[in-house]
Amino acid sequence: MTIFTKKKIKSWTLAFALGGSLMVGVPALERATAPVALSSKATAGQMSLTVFDVGQGDSILAQVGDKQILIDGGPDSTVLERLGNAMPAGDREIDLVILTHPHSDHVNGLAQVLSRYKVDKIMATDVTAPIVSFRTWRSEIMQNNIPVDDPQKIKTERVGDMEYDVLSAGTEAGIRGSEHDGNSDGLNDSSIVGMLKFGQKRFLLMGDATTVIEDKLMAAPDDLKADFLKVGHHGSNYSTSEKFIDAVAPVYAATSVGAKNPYGNPAWRVMQLIKNKGIVGYRTDENGTVTALTDGSSLQVASERVR
Ligand SMILES: [Zn+2]
Repeated sequence: MTIFTKKKIKSWTLAFALGGSLMVGVPALERATAPVALSSKATAGQMSLTVFDVGQGDSILAQVGDKQILIDGGPDSTVLERLGNAMPAGDREIDLVILTHPHSDHVNGLAQVLSRYKVDKIMATDVTAPIVSFRTWRSEIMQNNIPVDDPQKIKTERVGDMEYDVLSAGTEAGIRGSEHDGNSDGLNDSSIVGMLKFGQKRFLLMGDATTVIEDKLMAAPDDLKADFLKVGHHGSNYSTSEKFIDAVAPVYAATSVGAKNPYGNPAWRVMQLIKNKGIVGYRTDENGTVTALTDGSSLQVASERVR
């Protein structure tokens, strides 16, 4: 017999309120009109996609049962605590780790993840960076003999019932051979951009790609429509054009950004754009960790805090 604790009953009540689809015969209420606070764990067969609050940086965990894809690791060891809370107790194995690009706010935490967790596979570009954490990341991969998939060759990763399709990825040669605006050393646009799919639900994860890549994606045949958008480049003004938002047409958007960061992220323009398009916007500096839960047909999103 299942014993429901008070906490469980509360979560279920909220889950019903948010996504009536759990009740047979009741149509799914697909969207809340504003950010919702809910401490949520996936039930059997559900996927959770968690945009961790790691300050100024990115770290995203997609998980079904004991299968995980971790995308980026944030700027420091905060990710270890976040993983500890999000993963099943005793699970020390991550099926796939993706490094979108080797800037410190994405790779620093990942280098630490490799020394604490058994990682079965990695996806990363050949783009390098002259920073200590990137050297550590590389040496951990070699020491532990972890296979690395090149997104130029492998376009789809499957972990459990999750599918991750590569939409864009740069190369070292590509970066060195191109010119960049003052904002970037080219690394941002080398980001692995991916569409994560679970059932009918689609999550577009932009890394730090700017409008340069957004324009390329819109010119390519890939379907960009997504239910959930991880906003590019911490909501900076160099990313997230109106055309692009219209092409993706997400129901939810999450911006991973640190409070009082020195870059002025997120840009007012981007936050207004999300609001004006009627998208339910979350940002980690205000809402904390953001979690999306889906059974493949309905989707609920909630955060640690509502502001
Ligand atoms: Zn970044």
